[in-house]
Amino acid sequence: MSHPPTEFDSGIETLRVVPYYGKHARYFRMARAVSEESLYEGYHHGALLVKGGSILSASPNRGGLCSFGSRFYPYKKGSPTPHAEIGCILGVDRSVTTGATVYVCRVGKQGDFRLSKPCEMCVGTLRYVGVRRVVWSVDENHCAIGRL
Ligand SMILES: [Zn+2]
Repeated sequence: MSHPPTEFDSGIETLRVVPYYGKHARYFRMARAVSEESLYEGYHHGALLVKGGSILSASPNRGGLCSFGSRFYPYKKGSPTPHAEIGCILGVDRSVTTGATVYVCRVGKQGDFRLSKPCEMCVGTLRYVGVRRVVWSVDENHCAIGRL
């Protein structure tokens, strides 16, 4: 299978694109449930912080300003909102985030998975706290595994 479409170059290396199966299916079901808590008017995202087979934190995307992420925000215009990937690592000890995996999905209005490749701000933030891998929704049938 080819690489997923890229909306922008966020500096994350895509290792594989795979169907939702096994633990990926389980985690993405939970991430979808987390995304339903999003009150943000645009897209609904849900993210999980996973390490050693355990879900240690979860967050939807939110409105408002993300001060922690802003130092990694590369764009000249606007201010960053707290993306789900950042929400799931905020307040979590560095010893926990180091070597962990973040699962992140975007969910459309019909409850379908959409492309949720992490943006440059999230890639910079997750790298900073030592997260090693990100698995993101590509479409209703596939997710992508990336290395930070
Ligand atoms: Zn982001």
